[in-house]
Amino acid sequence: MKKPYTSLYVHVPFCRGKCAYCAFYSVARFSPGETGAYLHRLFAEFADWTDACAPLETVYIGGGTPTVLSPRDLAELLGGVRRAFRLGTGAEFTVECNPETLSADKAAVLAEYGVNRVSLGVQSFFPELRRVLGRRGTPADAVTAVVHLRAAGIDNLGGDLMYGIPGQTTEMWRRDLVRTCELGVSHLSAYELTIEEGSRLARAGTSSPASELAVDCWEIAGSVAADFGLVRYEVSNLARPGAECRHNMDVWYGGTVLGCGPAACSFDGAARFSNPPDLHRWLRSSHREADVLSPAGRAREILAFGLRTVDGWSLSRFRDRTGFDAMALCAGEIRGLAAEGLLVVEPDCLRPTERGLLFADTVAERIIE
Ligand code: SF4
Repeated sequence: MKKPYTSLYVHVPFCRGKCAYCAFYSVARFSPGETGAYLHRLFAEFADWTDACAPLETVYIGGGTPTVLSPRDLAELLGGVRRAFRLGTGAEFTVECNPETLSADKAAVLAEYGVNRVSLGVQSFFPELRRVLGRRGTPADAVTAVVHLRAAGIDNLGGDLMYGIPGQTTEMWRRDLVRTCELGVSHLSAYELTIEEGSRLARAGTSSPASELAVDCWEIAGSVAADFGLVRYEVSNLARPGAECRHNMDVWYGGTVLGCGPAACSFDGAARFSNPPDLHRWLRSSHREADVLSPAGRAREILAFGLRTVDGWSLSRFRDRTGFDAMALCAGEIRGLAAEGLLVVEPDCLRPTERGLLFADTVAERIIE
């Protein structure tokens, strides 16, 4: 059912260079004229959708690299969000940041416009692994970025790390986790490197790590994070209790999100829409591509997303959100997955087992098909 948007995602499509594994839409070379045109068009897009929004519960500025913008452009962008939308009391306001692009000035701009959560793309502290990934900056940049953010008064920090990097051992992975947790982050995203089609790693013929190694790394992430008081709450995400990313949680549980900027996706409770994944096409046109699915197909998709979380679905919440009874919608699939030890059915709850989290993609494929 179509509803007002309660979350906003803004895609900033600029980066300092292209990482070797990257499949996100971003451009590595851009001029001040292009960032100016981007902001101009973005504010027009905001104006088109302001009336379709309820007071926002979460705002997430991602990319690309939002902090590659100059302090002035960053202030314009954040000021544009604040002018166009009403934020609810206690709204979560996140900006993604690549440490090497964050100065003290930019950290002050984030704080000035009410950003209260920053997600830092660390990926690895090991220079040799950073080289494989084609990451810019140095391991020390993450430490400096944290100092700048804390000095500006932003304490709710997350660190993104990657495992399965060619040349990485489980001991290196453990050390990356410890160093990131020692920065005092309240949130950790631990993603397995996937070799995306079209990325430099794919063109170089790099293959994904052995699945046993990936399982070991996944388990190590859970145990190191637990030593620092962070608990897994989704397949790839761990947090101090209360510091879970509310924006992502809302998206996984089928909440409405308005996506602005090239390649951004929106969900209005009934249909998904995507903006063109091309800066210049998006600059020229306000057309969004609709992804049309039957109501039952959409409900299955929402069910599958929520089953990536450790808590899974409250069945009554699922019914309220989608109008469908999960147990009737996917009776055969749920029975089969439960029999295989991937899902647990409890009164008013359907959740993945630990094995179900490890094989979350299998669970999702079976629910969606
Ligand atoms: S910084 Fe992020 S979005 Fe930019 S190229 Fe690297 S992985 Fe892609």
